[in-house]
Amino acid sequence: MTSLHTRPAAAAGLQPLLCRALDGVTPSRDEAYALARAQGTDLAALFAAASELRERGWGRTVTYSRKVFIPLTNLCRDHCRYCTFAQAPNSPAARTLTPNEVLLIARAGAAAGCKEALFSLGERPEEVYERSRSDLRALGYATTSEYLAAMCRLVFEETGLMPHANCGVLDPWELELLRPWNVSMGLMLENISERLLGPGLAHAGSPGKDPALRIKTIEDAGRLGIPFTTGILIGIGETLEERIDSIFAIRDMQERSGNVQEVIIQNFRAKDDTPMRSEGEPTAIEMARTIAIARLVLGPEMSVQAPPNLSPDAYGFYLLAGINDWGGVSPVTADHINPEAPWPKIEELREISEEAGFALRERLAIYPRFSQNPATIREPFAGRVAALVDESGYVRPELQGSTLPAPAERRGRPVRRDGPAPLILREFPAAGAAQEAQP
Ligand code: SF4
Repeated sequence: MTSLHTRPAAAAGLQPLLCRALDGVTPSRDEAYALARAQGTDLAALFAAASELRERGWGRTVTYSRKVFIPLTNLCRDHCRYCTFAQAPNSPAARTLTPNEVLLIARAGAAAGCKEALFSLGERPEEVYERSRSDLRALGYATTSEYLAAMCRLVFEETGLMPHANCGVLDPWELELLRPWNVSMGLMLENISERLLGPGLAHAGSPGKDPALRIKTIEDAGRLGIPFTTGILIGIGETLEERIDSIFAIRDMQERSGNVQEVIIQNFRAKDDTPMRSEGEPTAIEMARTIAIARLVLGPEMSVQAPPNLSPDAYGFYLLAGINDWGGVSPVTADHINPEAPWPKIEELREISEEAGFALRERLAIYPRFSQNPATIREPFAGRVAALVDESGYVRPELQGSTLPAPAERRGRPVRRDGPAPLILREFPAAGAAQEAQP
């Protein structure tokens, strides 16, 4: 690829800074603030530099994880002002899944060739809601974490899907409880600014969104050898500087704990039934600019991901700004956090990736760098991973899930949906990872 060192069109203003980045010198915070305001040819040069760094770390391969989404409970102690997932305890939509419902989803995923069970749930609802305490009592558990650990184990033992739990801030004892049955875990930093916890702002009434608690959870997990996914949510009322500071906070955290396996750059979507329904959503250019800066700050080896379903008309463009991963995509379940935004079919993802010059590969929830390190992979997952991947660390081609043809209407804008999505959107006819299913 043409280097920026020799690119005549690169803008003089940012050229030295981008050349230094390509020589391995991370931009300073002030330089990153300047990059965040790049325009015109400067912006094109920023994207080119980020793409070049991505290719040093990941080549021309872009990955995704084939998963099911298991919304174990939609009760949550927090009240984020953009959230439609959490339900009031007296809402008819409030639910805690039973073990049978959990297994129903996991089995549908196994039949569709999924490898990951993403458990995504509200944070410590039993601290504030009697409804949650009574749901847990009826199931035989005292805390959400204990129930989650049991369900992770059940899913793995019954279906072979590898759990990846995303359940908010956790104490060290909870991490220890979850570690044996999670191949990796996740917690979005979202933003490093405590200001957003203030009255009327995005994280008002959400103690779990205190950035110090979130960083502590990920660092505690690092001490236990748990690979972690984190990321930032852009467009929730943060300043441009706070957005960049959040990327630096993740970089610093990674330098201390070393267990960050991927960083998601996620765009806020304004949902009709939330207090933030009238807020503006980030543009695709803002997303791409943030992705490019994340690549420069986090370096070539970090996996940088953007969810395709939240930018249905623009996600292929993010490949030109430095991402190497699409995250989890489910052929079976909705994105329960963003139920209005269907995931693209795998075949559409492949087509758009190839259009941009990339090969699409299926990966596991745990990245190869962590699944090949005895400090971050243990049994029972080590054997399961070894059976699924080839020498690249990605899923062996013959075990990749089916690729369904994308219906023509999939390229349209997301459909707004009232209330929670059904637990299973589409059943696949037969178990078997390599099964080619029909829609
Ligand atoms: S975004 Fe997460 S933490 Fe915030 S209210 Fe929704 S479920 Fe709870």
